[in-house]
Amino acid sequence: DGVVYAELRRPCRTMILVNPHSGRGQALPLFNDHVQGMLTEACVPYTLVITEHQNHARELVRKADLSQWDALVIMSGDGLLFEVINGLMEREDWQQAIQTPLGILPGGSGNALAASIHHYSQSPPAWNEELLLSCGFILCKGLVGSLDLVSIHLASRQRLFSFLSLAWGFVADVDIESEKYRHVGAIRFLMGTMVRLASLRVYQGRLAYLPAKEAPKLQRGSVNRPPPAPQRPSLCSSLPCRLGPNTSLKTSSRRGCNLNQHAVSNSPNNVITDMRPETQSDRKTTSPVDSLLPGLDQPVPDSWTVVKDEDFVLVLAIYQSHLAEDLWTVPGATADDGLIHLFYVTAGISRPALLRLFLAMEKGAHLACGCPHLVYEKVRALRLEPTSPQGVITVDGEAVEYGPVQAQVHPGLARLICG
Ligand code: ADP
Ligand code: MG
Repeated sequence: DGVVYAELRRPCRTMILVNPHSGRGQALPLFNDHVQGMLTEACVPYTLVITEHQNHARELVRKADLSQWDALVIMSGDGLLFEVINGLMEREDWQQAIQTPLGILPGGSGNALAASIHHYSQSPPAWNEELLLSCGFILCKGLVGSLDLVSIHLASRQRLFSFLSLAWGFVADVDIESEKYRHVGAIRFLMGTMVRLASLRVYQGRLAYLPAKEAPKLQRGSVNRPPPAPQRPSLCSSLPCRLGPNTSLKTSSRRGCNLNQHAVSNSPNNVITDMRPETQSDRKTTSPVDSLLPGLDQPVPDSWTVVKDEDFVLVLAIYQSHLAEDLWTVPGATADDGLIHLFYVTAGISRPALLRLFLAMEKGAHLACGCPHLVYEKVRALRLEPTSPQGVITVDGEAVEYGPVQAQVHPGLARLICG
């Protein structure tokens, strides 16, 4: 559908990180049985790295000599890719590092990105080994597209980068509570959902967001500059970032990747304040600027929508099509649509109605259920301020510090092996 891909460099020197404890603890034998032969036949040279502990992959990619690698691939659940992305973004050369093509082979119990990539390839639904084979094939084909990342700020001023989801309430509780059933594989989410339904609760907090339809307004009296370049992947694999149509293909700098694509400020009325091409000194900044977000202690801008409800059953911000192998949460999503798909369910929904939503989600039909408690908005940024004293917030399925949190999308910041 009009998407242009780059191709991986050949031969593609690939680092494959395996979490031997993910899912049912079978990632390594699954790799050996299903993927190894495929990569050998496709002449993909790879080095296998077995992670020894949590954050091992994160530390490894933070320090790795990335000139040695054409792709970083994880064989695990989504949690290991979360480590890799954050390790890359913690580097001083993050802007170059995050252009390393990333791949995923489903070896965990939560394989949302793998299921999404499979879905984007327009293949009929697949699970377990069949999904693994599909993702192995996609890796061998080596087409590279863009991947949106979402920058997430926590109350402690910690900042994370996320490729999948930010969740609070029902979904976050199920994700974390069901980790003890990891040995059953992807079914753990269904089991967790049934258990959580039995003890359904309401979560109090405030939610606000910047709607995606809100076009940046120009400051009165300012120069009428063109809007940021459309975000399309580059055909040329030697230029690792996506270049806008106005960017010369001759320039070897990574200009255009970043600040000037996210030029909407957090000042009143979303005034455009920074349309400069990126300069050398900008490039030394430690990470991309979140120009849509005021400080967490500041009120949200007037252009944001503040949700009236303060009693929720769940809040889920998701930026891929699938939340799990059998949860097709965002029918229209692509890896680089530049959108945060925000769902929330308000209090008052009955248990059967909530269960119906999750069952319908297998076929992506939950929005057609006509449930008045389910709201769906496409947004570019959001803020969530839980007021319930305790709870769980997850980012890409990993529990993070509980408290106020805000996020904004960075369209096409990373690159993904897909298609
Ligand atoms: P799953 O889908 O089964 O949850 P994940 O890839 O999400 O699999 O990994 C689960 C957790 O294990 C993540 O928090 C990840 O950071 C962590 N992890 C990664 N490697 C290891 C390891 N070698 N030992 C223990 N935990 C690990
Ligand atoms: Mg996980």
